[in-house]
Amino acid sequence: MSKNRNAVLLTIDSLRYDHTSMAGYKRDTTPFMSSILDQAVSYDLAIANSANTPGAFPTILTGSYLLGREDVPKLSGKRKLISEILKEDGFRTAGFHSNAYLSTFYNYNRGWDQFHDDVGGEAMDAEPEKGSSKRIKEFIKRHDSLHSLSTILYAKTKGLPIPFLTAEELNDMAMDWLKNIQHNFFLWVHYLDSHNPYYPPDEDMKAVLGKTVPKARILKLNSKLRKCNDIQDASTLSNEEVKELIDLYDACIHHSDRAINDIMDRIKGIGHYDDTIFIITSDHGEQFREHGNVYHPSQLYDEQMRIPMLVKPVKVDVKTLGTGKGFAQHLDILPTIFEALGVKGEGLDGISLYNSIVTGLNPPERKGVFSEVREGNVKVIAYRTLDKKLIWRENGKHELYDLVKDPPETDNLFGKGLEFEFDFIKAVEEHITGLKSRGDLSSAISGLKLKKKI
Ligand SMILES: [Zn+2]
Repeated sequence: MSKNRNAVLLTIDSLRYDHTSMAGYKRDTTPFMSSILDQAVSYDLAIANSANTPGAFPTILTGSYLLGREDVPKLSGKRKLISEILKEDGFRTAGFHSNAYLSTFYNYNRGWDQFHDDVGGEAMDAEPEKGSSKRIKEFIKRHDSLHSLSTILYAKTKGLPIPFLTAEELNDMAMDWLKNIQHNFFLWVHYLDSHNPYYPPDEDMKAVLGKTVPKARILKLNSKLRKCNDIQDASTLSNEEVKELIDLYDACIHHSDRAINDIMDRIKGIGHYDDTIFIITSDHGEQFREHGNVYHPSQLYDEQMRIPMLVKPVKVDVKTLGTGKGFAQHLDILPTIFEALGVKGEGLDGISLYNSIVTGLNPPERKGVFSEVREGNVKVIAYRTLDKKLIWRENGKHELYDLVKDPPETDNLFGKGLEFEFDFIKAVEEHITGLKSRGDLSSAISGLKLKKKI
């Protein structure tokens, strides 16, 4: 390790890039993140390598492709988490969050000196499979009953039934740990405030919407949203209700931005700003019926794939700070942190962006990036270049989009005889072959039948 170098990874659940100030959104949802652009590089084309929490986090924390592991949602020991690698290298490590999918039950507790997942250590004692899934069900049930109870009592309490730890609580826990650490630490905090249900604090609604939405209305909207499990359910929401949900979501983003501001200020306050690399990103975006759904289902369209990614390097030289050109992806997080810290990383699927961030030189050129998800049992791989995207499915139901002519991805060009179709299929099949050849793909992928170019 390099002396006196630390890393902080701040992840925000369900934050889509096009709703941030960096992307030029109509509302100033992330004023703090925008304010540090003279210190940090923001990527305009940062791509999530999967579409939901259980898919994205193994990639974020191990630096390897989802389909290469076959251990989702429960992590095997096949790939080390960043916490394990850095701990072995002498770093002090801590992770704080409140997302059940990233809990001890799913083996995310490895390699941390301190780990708080809000589900508690009970999952560790539960009987494997049966007992643990029961534990998760209980967790969800607890939140459901909390929700119903609070719905009944809201008039009395005027409170909102927030089913997770708030950013403020997580920041306090993280700082409690960090205040006693001198140097060489890795801290991960994952915020759920932008994840549904959307319960923004009044001050964030005022800042973003110029008003507060009555608590009764917030509860009603979220209650309707909770019942939407598929496209058919989502179609029962009126356009006005979707608009109102977006209002709440935007205010929640502002809340997350305040949380980032708070923790970075506090880390600065204890003297660890200049010797620390900060990466701020999200695990995936969010859908508001752009493709029929709400939440973040297993779909690989841009509203879920494009995420914010900001990197504040260890020592900032404004004259040579990078421009954020080119792709960034979850897979690049580990190599980038490792290069900043002088730590050796092996077998990582991404590339380090660090040199380009501190020198201003362009990062190594990439034609495109891959994102992976499972729709039920069907493996789905998206290959996205600057201007086009193929969504490849094992069952042959592919989609192909021209992102310049058709940014909303509604005009499927697959099978229309376009010349680039072959090259995109070839890129996905080579990606699968690559995973197979290094023994990473233990289960078969069907649907590989590359045709000869005509
Ligand atoms: Zn998530």
